[in-house]
Amino acid sequence: MIMLNYMSKVDNVSLNIRVKLQGGNILEKSTVIDKVKDIKNIIDDLSIKVWENPEIAGEERYASSLFKDILKNNGFIIKEVNNMEYAFIAEFGSGHPVIAVLGEYDALAGMSQKLEAVHNPLVPSGNGHGCGHNLLGSAALGSVLAIKKYMEEADKKGTIRFYGCPEEETLIGKVKMIKEGAFEGCDLALSWHPMNANAAVYKAYLSNNSIKFNFTGKSAHAGASPHLGRSALDAVELMNVGANYLREHVIDKARIHYTITKAGGPPNIVPKEAESWYFVRAPHRKDVEEITQRLYKVADGAAMMTETSVEKKLISGCYELLPNDTLFELTHKNMEEISGPEYSEKDLQFALDLQKSINASQILADMELYGQHGKELEAPLHQGLVDKNIGKNVNITGSSDSGDVSWIMPMNCFLTACFPWGVTPHSWQATASAGSGIGLAGMLYATKIFTGIMYDLLNYEELVKKAIAEFKERTKTNKYRSPLS
Ligand SMILES: [Zn+2]
Repeated sequence: MIMLNYMSKVDNVSLNIRVKLQGGNILEKSTVIDKVKDIKNIIDDLSIKVWENPEIAGEERYASSLFKDILKNNGFIIKEVNNMEYAFIAEFGSGHPVIAVLGEYDALAGMSQKLEAVHNPLVPSGNGHGCGHNLLGSAALGSVLAIKKYMEEADKKGTIRFYGCPEEETLIGKVKMIKEGAFEGCDLALSWHPMNANAAVYKAYLSNNSIKFNFTGKSAHAGASPHLGRSALDAVELMNVGANYLREHVIDKARIHYTITKAGGPPNIVPKEAESWYFVRAPHRKDVEEITQRLYKVADGAAMMTETSVEKKLISGCYELLPNDTLFELTHKNMEEISGPEYSEKDLQFALDLQKSINASQILADMELYGQHGKELEAPLHQGLVDKNIGKNVNITGSSDSGDVSWIMPMNCFLTACFPWGVTPHSWQATASAGSGIGLAGMLYATKIFTGIMYDLLNYEELVKKAIAEFKERTKTNKYRSPLS
């Protein structure tokens, strides 16, 4: 039995434990991390190919097959997910812990952009990787290749599963995968997202419902017999008015946004069909569910006023990230241990050029969010690590179906700097960054962080047990219920 004084550097007493290595040969962690550079070419090539062939949610045929081929050729066993063509699991090893690494590869419509610092789409109105998922999936894949090599060399017990997760941008892929039982048997999950800061995060993602409201009325000649018509468009408009009044009476942090996706035809025909599309977001799932029910009443009211009928279609729904202190601490510790992204002069210049298209106040607001205000005003890219307490309090206010995974098993989340300060996801500037050396540098850092975390989880059983015990405690009275059920 080999005793190690684990994490003596770490200030968190809960992690400062003495544990034994679970059999196998010893291979220094720093050596394992260092070897990640051997697979850099594979992940650079993969992420660039995916960036050059952007596919939106639900259409990830090319990306998913590329990922599968690499994993298969590297000795992973591929398992399909029922009813989901572009989702898959690639598994290596046996026994516990069973670690899930989440990979995504979908792009966004309208985000096409060349590797230039002025807006110039590769394909007009085409798809583009404005959220950096080409990097997201590739870092996750790189880390499972690296840790597999280590497990083989060190004869290490445990199971690593890469999850090919499609349809993230429509916030539904992992929700469906959970329903299909794809995550059964996993002990914990690891995740990250490209961003403009290097940070372990504790709170992330607003819970969300995406709902379409289809109103049906009666068409009529708008000039000759308007009294015979019942306008579905009127109902959509009245519902929006009601929703806008509702805003005052929901919690501050809730967000309600909508578009009109069908508004009728020419104005001389009373519109029989009209449709609006709503997102309801809030920090906690229970608030989203409650506000959704109130929004349904607004829709019913609009239908009653206009003598139309309404059909409510829940397109998708997802949870916020359930924090896990053990995994948060472990993630931050690994980010401290591993040196951050290394950008070339060319990357730094490209970042500065991209920032010219961004409002200075946005750049400062972004830096302030991560506690960097005034620290690096001259540097366009984050090269340090966000303070642990700031990382613990920062809230990423987008939504992700990754949140749902954190409700069925313990999960971490971290960010690395793949975009310059001021560049937000879902922008052409983010597409340009994600296809450039900036994104590749942030991706390599993410690959190393994943590898380091997995190394610790495979070697220190207590960490796994502690993360699971914490998860069980947090979900004791608040269990996951699929938004789709
Ligand atoms: Zn994203």
